[in-house]
Amino acid sequence: MNTTNMDFNTKLVHAGGYEDQFGSATVPIYQTSTFAFKNAQHGADLFAGRDKGYIYTRIGNPTIDALERNIAELENGYRGIATASGMGAVNSVYFALLKAGDHMVSTNSVYGPSRGVMESFYANFGVESSYVDTSDIEKVKAAIKPNTKVLYLETPSNPTMLLTDIEACTAIAKEKGIVVVVDNTFSSPFLQKPLDLGADVVLHSVTKFINGHADIVGGIIVSKTPELDARIRKAMIMLGTNMDPHQAFMVIRGVKTLSIRQERAEENARKVADYLEKHPKIDWIKYPGLASHPQFELAKKQMSGFGSMISFGLKGGFEAGKTLMDSVHLAILAVSLGGVETLIQHPASMTHAGLSKEAREAADITDGLVRFSVGIESVNDIIADLEQALAKV
Ligand SMILES: *Cc1c(COP(=O)(O)O)cnc(C)c1O
Repeated sequence: MNTTNMDFNTKLVHAGGYEDQFGSATVPIYQTSTFAFKNAQHGADLFAGRDKGYIYTRIGNPTIDALERNIAELENGYRGIATASGMGAVNSVYFALLKAGDHMVSTNSVYGPSRGVMESFYANFGVESSYVDTSDIEKVKAAIKPNTKVLYLETPSNPTMLLTDIEACTAIAKEKGIVVVVDNTFSSPFLQKPLDLGADVVLHSVTKFINGHADIVGGIIVSKTPELDARIRKAMIMLGTNMDPHQAFMVIRGVKTLSIRQERAEENARKVADYLEKHPKIDWIKYPGLASHPQFELAKKQMSGFGSMISFGLKGGFEAGKTLMDSVHLAILAVSLGGVETLIQHPASMTHAGLSKEAREAADITDGLVRFSVGIESVNDIIADLEQALAKV
């Protein structure tokens, strides 16, 4: 089925155009490592690219291919490259686009390991990187050097919920031939389409919204052009960051309900945000859908909705954060986000506990900061859970 001219919600269910020889309504799992050649000439033609077909699962597999085509259509890109995890996607992109002597500019509050791998490993190979508040376009301009090859953005950023203007950043990068990569995990293509805003490459941890059921990890990269796709695909194949066919099957199943999951989660999140904003024990709240968010206007322009991720600060600081974590019953105390279940996390005592208080504060991770990923349960139960837990704080 060709879904090119159909709507997003139809694409979620059908894009990819997989056609099964037995008429299977779903994409089968081709759980095989390798594919038989019909004869010596067929093998030679496949390797030379004269014939289309499958050789070996690390290079390509029908189940993985179906997912790659589906997400590429959702992001309005040329082609997708599915990976073992979100970090598999990040590393495949870095490896393909950067070499010794090159420089990358990135969002300062980017996903921790996306920065960590650059500073702990790529730096050993002579790749430089700078981390700036990309929500301030002047800081992006100032950070660009003659050897800058990649501008790597994450918006909204985690856990500060700051937005970066993708269109404005892309305009600067284009003049200088810099490749713009956007980690779109926090929005998913349901809310934001970076390639339409001028970016060259978009990537995801499909672990989060795209799969949406907290049952697999995975990643995907979508490039705008065949040239970028070929460069990154070669890196993925040689690094061995490929997805597995069973994983791909799970994601194909999960993505079909992306819109209805995100619509419900956002409806819930707006109510939770309104509730928290008025709560006496809450110091501040960052949710792009509140008029109090510093970039409410940009959120309305760049995204088609405000999502279901909320950050808030407790007046009681560190101890209040820990008490809240120990008092919730419905919200699962866990990292990750974007699933059907509500998750809660306290960065100062959990994900960012390894950093000093000074380092945390430099990254705007205050002691009372709580990250809340609103699920699709009944909003009454989500708010009742917060109410009883906040009463103990
Ligand atoms: C989780 C996450 C990643 C890493 O993905 P994994 O699937 O855990 O490897 C990258 N970027 C963002 C924004 C994330 O939230």
